[in-house]
Amino acid sequence: MSELTIYNPTDIEPKWQARWEKEGLYQAEIDPSRTKFYALTMLPYTSGDLHIGHWYAMTPPDARARFKRMQGYNVVFPIGFDAFGLPAENAAIKKGIHPKTWTYANIEHMRKQLKSMGAMWDWQREMISSDPEYYRWTQWFFIQLYKHGLAYRKYSPVDWCPHCQTTLAREQVQGEDRHCERCDTPVIKKELEQWFFKITSYADDLLDYSTIDWPERVKTLQTNWIGRSEGASVIFHSEQEDPIEIFTTRPDTLWGATFMVLAPEHPLVQKITAPTKREAVDAYIRQASRQSDIDREASDKEKTGVFTGGYAINPVNGERIPIWIADYVLMTYGTGAIMAVPAHDQRDFDFARKYGLEVRVVIQPADIEPQEGATMQASVPAIGDMVNSGPLTGTPGKQAFSSAIEYIESRGMGKAAVNYKLRDWLISRQRYWGAPIPMVYCQTCGWNAVPENQLPVLLPDDVEWQPTGVNPLTIHPTWKNTTCPVCGQPATRETDTMDTFMCSSWYHLRYLSPNYDQGPFRQQDYGYWMPVDNYTGGIEHATMHLMYTRFFHKALRDMGITKGPEPMLQLRNQGIVLGEDSEKMSKSRGNVISPDELVARYGADSVRAYLMFFARWEMGAPWSSTGIDGAYRWLRRVWILFTDPVEKGNPDPELLRALRRKLHQTLKQVTHDFEVFEFNTIVSGLMELLNEMYRAREKGAAGTVEWNEAVDVYLRMMAPVTPHIAEELWAFLGKPYSIHQQPWPAVDYEAAADELITLIVQVNGKLRDRIQVPVGISEQEAEAAALQSEAIRKFLEGKPPLKVIVVPGRLVNIVV
Ligand SMILES: [Zn+2]
Ligand SMILES: [Zn+2]
Repeated sequence: MSELTIYNPTDIEPKWQARWEKEGLYQAEIDPSRTKFYALTMLPYTSGDLHIGHWYAMTPPDARARFKRMQGYNVVFPIGFDAFGLPAENAAIKKGIHPKTWTYANIEHMRKQLKSMGAMWDWQREMISSDPEYYRWTQWFFIQLYKHGLAYRKYSPVDWCPHCQTTLAREQVQGEDRHCERCDTPVIKKELEQWFFKITSYADDLLDYSTIDWPERVKTLQTNWIGRSEGASVIFHSEQEDPIEIFTTRPDTLWGATFMVLAPEHPLVQKITAPTKREAVDAYIRQASRQSDIDREASDKEKTGVFTGGYAINPVNGERIPIWIADYVLMTYGTGAIMAVPAHDQRDFDFARKYGLEVRVVIQPADIEPQEGATMQASVPAIGDMVNSGPLTGTPGKQAFSSAIEYIESRGMGKAAVNYKLRDWLISRQRYWGAPIPMVYCQTCGWNAVPENQLPVLLPDDVEWQPTGVNPLTIHPTWKNTTCPVCGQPATRETDTMDTFMCSSWYHLRYLSPNYDQGPFRQQDYGYWMPVDNYTGGIEHATMHLMYTRFFHKALRDMGITKGPEPMLQLRNQGIVLGEDSEKMSKSRGNVISPDELVARYGADSVRAYLMFFARWEMGAPWSSTGIDGAYRWLRRVWILFTDPVEKGNPDPELLRALRRKLHQTLKQVTHDFEVFEFNTIVSGLMELLNEMYRAREKGAAGTVEWNEAVDVYLRMMAPVTPHIAEELWAFLGKPYSIHQQPWPAVDYEAAADELITLIVQVNGKLRDRIQVPVGISEQEAEAAALQSEAIRKFLEGKPPLKVIVVPGRLVNIVV
């Protein structure tokens, strides 16, 4: 044994990192004889600086991947960079550096920061989404979607950020004031021709979570985002006989429709508006167009509207009902027209009362007093028997829905239908720093895909990327000029680039075959490694990346490119590390914690251990700068205990049994906690065991077989959490390199079992029962165990005891 006294992480950490990398310790290769485990952490964006949130998101999953590896799985744990996108372009503009230069300099820096974590990433699999070797295949995937009718071009109103000069997906517009998620500028509406992916074709498929173990919260967010509702599509007609389609979730209330409401943008508005109403209608339309969808739909907002002077015919009873326009009806949801049933819908009720429109009761729930439309105080939305409903009057509530659908279907008035809130995925961006959309427009042949053997469509370096108000690729002198792949005549390239969520929809596949150039991945690699066994990252991606990547997988599966129902079997989300002031970390608040400084001061192992210890991982918590001292102290105590030579004593056999018991109890707990992502109790369990080991050593346990087992198992349990110190102490003890190639120790359940003793239980001094309890049980636990005894409960007759006397290890006397 060499002389070692001081724990100095800044010496040992870089040393082991270099050796692990040099010897390819974490390189994963296909091995059909072993069960694979694909552990994936969400790839970082190339912002330029790794913050403590990255460490929190990545190091506990790294520990778990290491644990899986020690359990014998063939683990692949890759890493890469999400490198295209607006932030790079905006930052580059601000700093006057080319986006490419900025991005690749950031990657260089972040790679070093990532390596300082000591994680088991297989760096030879690194991918960068802005590398032509990568985006060649992003473009190829676009073409596959296009060829299968899942990419299409549509002229439509889009959310436009005037600052970023680009369109935004619905998910990228945030808050009540509808601001850009990147720069906080309020967005405006703009009409543009755009490329969309038909994610709506997969709405039902995306609602099926039966083969994945994902958090309930994520599934709920996706379900609400998809917004599936069952009902009926019904065709009303205007008096001019134009059909007006509506969707309703309550076909049983059709006889109660006393007016219709159209979105101000509905194409029929101009035609049905009576000349006397035109001025008011036009003024209302102008005012509505200035508001956002969110404002218009807000439930607390007073509903306004204008009568068009036009009428529609209710198909079920032939009644003439007035047509209004109101801004709370959106052209982008459903059909842009609704039937209003004020007696059974509160929004319609408020509107009817405000404008003096008829309220007619057509549903009578069993537990509600019959009401009159003219005097009722609120709508009655509950299900109930149909009343005032022509031939369906008297239909019981349970059958009302299906009877109404049967009625309209048999008369050709409409049909059962399903409606979704989900919209198609808008992927066009009028920006430079993205993967060019591989499409060509020819005056004769229209839009055609770039032939696959001409991919990638390279992004030119020599562009005016400084803001000019137009997409940089459109003003490049030559880039957009090409020839039509069909007729060979001059044609122009699409100058829009792709939403970066397209790049991140398939990165997990590129890791499998990072250097392959015959396709995005090699079939054999896919067959062995996919699907992802465990995926970790933030919940903020629930309705964006985590939905897009599922859609992408399912669409490609239907083309025979991917396999299986889902790309990622298990998902776990981490919480958020707040500043010490319990606020979100931000530069302006000055509460940002820099992991680089922490690593320099305490070492990566302490940072890792503290991040695993300080909060339930899925919850997160405020940072504590004194808390990390505790993690550091723990490692120092481990160091001292394991490096300080002590003479072998002559300990009591019971002491050694107790040491083994604690060791295997801890091992059992740590094994369980790794499986279920309870990282905080892993570290606290190891701290407790360490205290027990210090006590045992004082009493002479050092040097015994039991002691040596405890040291060996302790280091193996530490290895995933604090890989450097574990490796160093493992080597110090003369054990074979590397601890990270050792198997996870097996729990000795017999040793872990608590030893039992018999306690006598008395009531008023008389023996009434004998109970079995673990050795070393506390007085409170002994009292609780005694009071739970069936025999004793009889004597207590449900009353609390007057007094309980515990003689540890012997008896409990209950005075009643
Ligand atoms: Zn913006
Ligand atoms: Zn052509």
